[in-house]
Amino acid sequence: MAIAEDLEVASFLKGQPKKLFIGGRWVDSASGKTFETLDPATGEVLARVAEAGAEDVDRAVAAARKSFDSGVWRDLPPAERARALWRVGDMIEERALEFAQLDSLDNGMPINDALIWFVPFAAATFRYYAGWATKLDGATQQISLPGNYLSYTLRQPVGVVGQIIPWNLPIMMAAWKIAPALACGNSVVLKPSEETPLSALLLAELLQQADVPDGVVNVVPGFGETAGARLASHPDVDKVAFTGSTEVGRLIAKAAADSNLKRVSLELGGKSPNIVFADADLAKAASGAFFGIFFNQGQMCSAGSRLFVQEKVYDETVDSLLKTVAEARVGPGMDPVTQIGPLVSKTQMDRVLGYINLGNKEGARMLIGGGRPEGMDRGNFVQPTVFADVDGKMRIAQEEIFGPVVAAIPFKDEEDLVQKANNTMYGLVAGVWTRDVGRAHRVAHALKAGTVYVNCYHIVDPVTPWGGFKQSGWGRELGPYALDLYTELKNVIVDLS
Ligand code: ADP
Repeated sequence: MAIAEDLEVASFLKGQPKKLFIGGRWVDSASGKTFETLDPATGEVLARVAEAGAEDVDRAVAAARKSFDSGVWRDLPPAERARALWRVGDMIEERALEFAQLDSLDNGMPINDALIWFVPFAAATFRYYAGWATKLDGATQQISLPGNYLSYTLRQPVGVVGQIIPWNLPIMMAAWKIAPALACGNSVVLKPSEETPLSALLLAELLQQADVPDGVVNVVPGFGETAGARLASHPDVDKVAFTGSTEVGRLIAKAAADSNLKRVSLELGGKSPNIVFADADLAKAASGAFFGIFFNQGQMCSAGSRLFVQEKVYDETVDSLLKTVAEARVGPGMDPVTQIGPLVSKTQMDRVLGYINLGNKEGARMLIGGGRPEGMDRGNFVQPTVFADVDGKMRIAQEEIFGPVVAAIPFKDEEDLVQKANNTMYGLVAGVWTRDVGRAHRVAHALKAGTVYVNCYHIVDPVTPWGGFKQSGWGRELGPYALDLYTELKNVIVDLS
């Protein structure tokens, strides 16, 4: 293993295999099986990880159920739950470099993106929900019909929550899921992606050190079709929260419906429009177009993968984007100058290269990129790629590519734009670049998207709701909205007569 000895994470990566975290103990899988997680920049094995199967998921659910029913967490004074969550935030921050290295090695992301964005966001999410633990208030209702009744609501934890997360933002996704669930008093079984299981295991260590009681959070790395599917269909899981592809989201909803009608929240795919009007600050818009699609190698459900540019400024904007793309530094995520790292896996690389071929076949005009960078065959690198004059009906304009590929599409005016931008099964985010305040709001209101950015892109904060219209999902994470996902609302009505 070629992991440098001086890395902060070196000691974590030794001591193989990484085990499952169930009931506060590190255990092997029932089958004894393990799987390898690879460094996408080199193809080398980073670590061996115990592979949870259905039986292990059952054990984890039983541990979560036991902890939930015992009340060790849900009945703790909320201020103590808050304190533990705040400590987890502090611990993530203290060990930020380790988390950043782990996610950069495991996922391929540029280490600076992990250090500046994703790891601090994970810490901030724990702190934000620490605040909510003491504020889970209900309301009182004044009864409107005749009678003398007191009606009030309580927010109670849903129970045992299964959480299935993707590989694109490993530690951040784990935090988005675990922090609000714990703030509300639930017990959790988290299944990280088989591509990037490592940082969730380090997080499990910290949760234990922060005195989150045994069994309250269980982490079971494993494959989707086995461990994930079991979690989604488990009869004793009260809710499943999923982030990933729309295709798998559909399976999760079905499994929930076919088992115990567990509550479901889904954060799924996107094909988000990033829209440049002729009156925009074009330099800013072009750099927003670059950031919108190439951040995290385009492996963002919110990637601005359809770039709509008003005809009058189309050539100028696309040229300016091309200049930035030509200068972009593609390299291993661990190299601090890298802007675009490798894709997470060979499968993902092949999928993205397949879409690039398809774009060429469909007759889109490829202006830059188009393949693997020369001399970088060991890793899953794909050149940032720009297609111009894309027709909205082409598959590269309709399907989520989840890679560094953008489709530029010209538009005439506001009406033409809104119609074209909404012509998708997705509705996660949109970006609008304009100096006209009225237009910014009009277009923001007309777009079918869960978040609309005006003159910015990829801004997310623990306080901002996150989720999609249409087939981009069900429900909203972050902010106070996540509390709806992790609590049941109970109404109590008392006869006062
Ligand atoms: P991505 O496109 O991000 O790889 P996936 O939707 O394939 O997204 O995977 C996201 C998560 O869903 C991963 O943790 C994966 O293991 C899990 N998963 C994949 N297939 C299933 C399934 N049939 N049931 C439950 N979870 C699944």
